[in-house]
Amino acid sequence: MAIVPISIYGDKILRQKALPVKEVSDDLIRKIKNMFDTMRNANGIGFAANQAGYRESIFVLDLEGADGYEKFKPIVMINPKIILQSDEKSFKEEGCLSLPNLHANVLRSDIIKVSYMDTDEKEVEIEAGDLLARVILHEYDHLIGKMIPDRVAEDVKTKLSAELANIMNREVEIEYPITEG
Ligand code: ZN
Repeated sequence: MAIVPISIYGDKILRQKALPVKEVSDDLIRKIKNMFDTMRNANGIGFAANQAGYRESIFVLDLEGADGYEKFKPIVMINPKIILQSDEKSFKEEGCLSLPNLHANVLRSDIIKVSYMDTDEKEVEIEAGDLLARVILHEYDHLIGKMIPDRVAEDVKTKLSAELANIMNREVEIEYPITEG
């Protein structure tokens, strides 16, 4: 088990676009395991590679702790692509391990279709709704360098600015290892 420090808002890697994965190597499997360990240690339900300091286009999901998803198996999505987003959208509160203690309502599509490669290098396509769709869209955003503050209205972002500054300066209480900044 290896827990790695989580990148925090302001870290450059969170603004970089992820690099496509060509093959699922042993090194990649090791990184994926570290991502699960790090996410679970911080009680997260979704986690993108750049949050763990990795450049690859990967995120992991583990929704077993969420209401209605108890039987849901953990998923690894490699090179994910959002191929459909419903016009019907909803606001719901989101948090992010790279934005400790911050919460904001984010507008996202209710239903999406996503394609990705699994760890057996097979192409998979799934339709997702509700929480699953939201978590996938949130993690996909990380892979294109976007985060919650980029998905809220300008006035909301202004209201969050003091909190964001505190996070960048690491002036918040965080119960899991983070980067030094
Ligand atoms: Zn996040």
